Amino acid sequence: MKKHSTDSDDVFDNDTGGGLTCSKCGHDQFDRLAPKAVVAFARDYRCCRCGHCFPAATPIWASLLFLLGGVPLTLAGLFAIISARGERASLAPLIGAGLLFMGATATWHGGKNLLKSGITIEIED
Ligand SMILES: [Zn+2]
Repeated sequence: MKKHSTDSDDVFDNDTGGGLTCSKCGHDQFDRLAPKAVVAFARDYRCCRCGHCFPAATPIWASLLFLLGGVPLTLAGLFAIISARGERASLAPLIGAGLLFMGATATWHGGKNLLKSGITIEIED
């Protein structure tokens, strides 16, 4: 339902945001917009009162997916670099560096989002 008039065609819905409140004005009604981020799993929020836009939190399953993909890529990249040590004219270190970069980026992204999602591990005394 489009409750608020807008000049943008990519407003999808009006949403309460599941208990979410605007960080600028505290309002709790949002429009959902097409995400601006290149990699996004949910539509962005736009406050119905002040127009403040912010991205939806990355779902936990997506963060875990990044970690599940990133850690093996990181290890494969490290393995390729280490095992190609001393070899000349080999593409293995270059490929390893690429895998390492992609894996480390995915691991960093997944881990950061998982920590931001508020998962806490409680250690009892
Ligand atoms: Zn607001």
